[in-house]
Amino acid sequence: MSVLVDAGHVVWIRSSSDEGALPPDVHVIDAGGSTIVPGMVDAHSHVTLPGGSHWIDRGADPPEELLEVAEHNGDLLGRAGVRWARDVGSPLAVDPRDGQKRALALRVRERWRLDPNRPRIRVAGTWISHSGVITGGLLIEADDGPALLKAASTQLDDGADFLKLYLDGPKKEEAPWSTDDVRAVVELAHGRGAKVTAHSGFLVGARVGIDAGVDSLEHGFELDSDTVAQMARQGTFLVSTLAIFRSWASFAQTTTLPRFVSDEGKERIARRRERAIESVRLAYRAGVRIATGTDFGGGSLRANHLAWEVEALVEAGLQPWEALSSATVRGGELLGEPDAGRIVEGGPAYFFLVHGDPLTDPSALWRVWRVAWLTAPRRGP
Ligand SMILES: [Zn+2]
Repeated sequence: MSVLVDAGHVVWIRSSSDEGALPPDVHVIDAGGSTIVPGMVDAHSHVTLPGGSHWIDRGADPPEELLEVAEHNGDLLGRAGVRWARDVGSPLAVDPRDGQKRALALRVRERWRLDPNRPRIRVAGTWISHSGVITGGLLIEADDGPALLKAASTQLDDGADFLKLYLDGPKKEEAPWSTDDVRAVVELAHGRGAKVTAHSGFLVGARVGIDAGVDSLEHGFELDSDTVAQMARQGTFLVSTLAIFRSWASFAQTTTLPRFVSDEGKERIARRRERAIESVRLAYRAGVRIATGTDFGGGSLRANHLAWEVEALVEAGLQPWEALSSATVRGGELLGEPDAGRIVEGGPAYFFLVHGDPLTDPSALWRVWRVAWLTAPRRGP
């Protein structure tokens, strides 16, 4: 196939043996032996955080450093073929322009808006969590319905594109809020044109989120056949993040951290991994729409690891083309961005070239040769 691009847009897509007349000043790039892939959507990312085996500690790094981390991540995402990133949580930090505390990723979104080399991002603001769940004071805590509603409203006032609720509570067997409390947030957000997503590590929180009508569940590590059936009926998205467990398993060899290297730690991770794969499998069989993400920064993956998650989805039972859809068009549907994850005539030239065929082999996505939207770096003075 041949693709003609002009001014950042796809003019036509034709068979290479039947291109017709080319414009006189056309610059031909010989992409022989590669596959054209739509720019991917990392639907679960944390652009201001670096990831790695100390990912939690890094959240407390100074804001100026985290803004530099974001620039590095922006570079890594682009080179890995990721055009869109959905940021599902960044630390609160004082904005020097007005002294107000707000989610750091909002500033990154502003910085990147006009830079063609940077990913397009949609930002959830910070995490909204019950107290006693996540330490460090980097997020908004809300312990009852009114506080939860106020936190949601503050996030939207700050400019969040959507909301992120943390549906794991201080006690594993109890959801942090009632279904009515969460439903009130969903109604508030929908009334203001914003969606609501929820972190879900355990079944009890997933139930509350789905009953309350959240638009998507992140991770969904503990779903059952009832919850996935309801998700399919309601059109609730699942955003899978299975590669987290591959990453943790690799830390058994590359770190000395007891939670990864001890027999007990390895066993616990293997158990949770099996359960998480089973959840995705159930959701897939029930017809739930599955988008996918790395959880880089908020978890241990790095910003250029989305291929790992596509591989994990294939392991969970999706066909390679379905797993690629999760990392492209499904992510676009979740974002409500019709251009994201597609290559169409008249649309933006957001595609990249890999070696191998990702429709049969997801590992081809690691072998990025060229990214259409990245312009050459500017030369020095
Ligand atoms: Zn996350």
